[in-house]
Amino acid sequence: MENDTIFAPATPSGGAIAVVRISGQRAHAILKSVFRGKGEPEHARMRHGMIEYKGKRIDEVMAVCFNAPRSFTGEDMAEIFCHGGRVSMARLMAALSDKGARLAQPGEFTRRAFESGKMDLSAAGAVMELIGANSAAAADAAMRQISGGLFDKITQIQKWLTDALVIIEAGIEYPEEDLEADVRRDALPSVQNALDAVRRLAATFEEGRLLKNGCGVAIVGRPNVGKSSLFNMLLGYERAIVTATPGTTRDAVEDFYMHSGAPIRFIDTAGLREAHDEAERIGIERAQNAAKGADLKLLVVDRSKGITKEDKRIFGTLDGEIIVVLNKIDLAPAATAKEARETFGCDVFEVCALSGSGRDDLIARIRPPVRSDDDDITVTSERHRDCLCAAAQSLESAAGAFDAADLDCVTIDIKEAWDRLGEITGLKATEEIINSIFDTFCLGK
Ligand code: GDP
Repeated sequence: MENDTIFAPATPSGGAIAVVRISGQRAHAILKSVFRGKGEPEHARMRHGMIEYKGKRIDEVMAVCFNAPRSFTGEDMAEIFCHGGRVSMARLMAALSDKGARLAQPGEFTRRAFESGKMDLSAAGAVMELIGANSAAAADAAMRQISGGLFDKITQIQKWLTDALVIIEAGIEYPEEDLEADVRRDALPSVQNALDAVRRLAATFEEGRLLKNGCGVAIVGRPNVGKSSLFNMLLGYERAIVTATPGTTRDAVEDFYMHSGAPIRFIDTAGLREAHDEAERIGIERAQNAAKGADLKLLVVDRSKGITKEDKRIFGTLDGEIIVVLNKIDLAPAATAKEARETFGCDVFEVCALSGSGRDDLIARIRPPVRSDDDDITVTSERHRDCLCAAAQSLESAAGAFDAADLDCVTIDIKEAWDRLGEITGLKATEEIINSIFDTFCLGK
């Protein structure tokens, strides 16, 4: 059925007020068939009234209509602000279904918005990222995409590619003009610009991942050196979302700490030592895996016990970036920071996990990357990153084909890159687009 009329609750269940959306050709008719108010619902104007179904009033609501294309989906739409009670909601939905609307699939409203040209594919995807964002920075990144930031960037890059295609096509179509040498000179800079921009965008994915999932910081070390105490000390009172991994206390436990709007994901791991029983063995395995996947490792050493052989062994099992944290500085020292630096060859911080002394310096050192420019687009979707990498490959190949003076290959590679970029915005290069550009192209003769 082509664009049947759909409905769905837009708010989670259990609230005082719920919003039910209806979209499609019959949205207004269906609303009118159940709504009894003083005035008829009209575009963007809230009306008070009752929902009546089978001769019975089932709820008192506010309702509003939106005329196509001036709606979220671009279709005729209606929104009913009803009470969020389970029974009244169920009755309203039964009424809408009975009047011919169908319960929407997840994402179907946004899909329709994309299909009717209300938003590009990157913005549509970012709607879900905004809803799922668990930090201010991730929400900002999603908003920049919803506002068309990524779309604009991609379109700009595609324009450079089109410019290059126009020049190259002239070289192929009019070989007698002996344009080949000029073609390279005129078209290569556009391709190079595009390649640089694509690479820059792809490189923001790592930052995007950190904004989305949090910069993972694993706290590792021997038992009783104060890992859990440090974990609590670092989280302080500002912790935002509690996501303690379920399981025994020997599992890795995670919690988020918001740092300048970006999440740090602290992971407290079980004591890394020889397992004494099965549960402990599993705990240690999980700790090792959690530590492996983390962006940064804090190796906790009990300063009052000195640097032990076991501390050095654990250090040897870690890869990537490591910071050594000398804990229990309130007790008499058996090692110094200088010694630790010489032993481990990395940054060393001294703290007292119980009193919180040394916390600020340590937190400042593990701060996540701070955005240099607030308006910059961050790629947060793996699909977008893959498209960008594929586009970059095609453009590298195009640049190589220039050197071989094989303009046919250059054209194929550039079009390939164009299409890969188009998969991000949902706009593919068709022959017609390219042709329409050439129609306006004048060779000057
Ligand atoms: P974990 O096994 O490495 O997670 O260590 P815990 O955090 O459970 O701490 C082990 C013991 O060391 C507990 O008795 C803590 O109270 C104690 N402890 C932790 N940090 C400090 C500290 O900075 N100073 C002192 N004096 N004791 C600490």
